[in-house]
Amino acid sequence: MRCPNCGSRFNKGLLACKYCGTTIKQIEEASHSAVVQAKEDYEPEKIVYSSIWPNDISRNNAFWLCMLCGIFGAHNFYTKRYLKATIGLVIWMLGISLFWLLMALMLAGEMYYEFIDTVLYGGGVPAVFLVVAFLMWMWDFFKIVTKTYKVPVVLKD
Ligand SMILES: [Zn+2]
Repeated sequence: MRCPNCGSRFNKGLLACKYCGTTIKQIEEASHSAVVQAKEDYEPEKIVYSSIWPNDISRNNAFWLCMLCGIFGAHNFYTKRYLKATIGLVIWMLGISLFWLLMALMLAGEMYYEFIDTVLYGGGVPAVFLVVAFLMWMWDFFKIVTKTYKVPVVLKD
């Protein structure tokens, strides 16, 4: 595993990270709910990303949220990874919106035909957005299943 505090590799046999002194106990007893407070207090330096999930957040819930509505970033909102969640959601919405916009334009008549032709067949822009969003979703799902997805936590002193 990797130390959530400094990112250096350390095996679980050790009780503490030999680079920064973070202990296994600290990581196991870290708090996910304290992330909210740290954000409110503008203390982002307190937040670290850990692949070991503390008890106040459920990997099971994240798994189901990801499986059922992961394309909307539900699991990322749940784990309070808001930036990641928002980026994925915006890309997905852009793809969907462009897709329907093109459909509407196509139905509206021939005057847009050239424009549609350029975007749909020339660039495939909506398809690119949708594929990127889909891959981001699948990547997160893979990470949750393989226990490599990281949650923000606040370590105990
Ligand atoms: Zn460390």
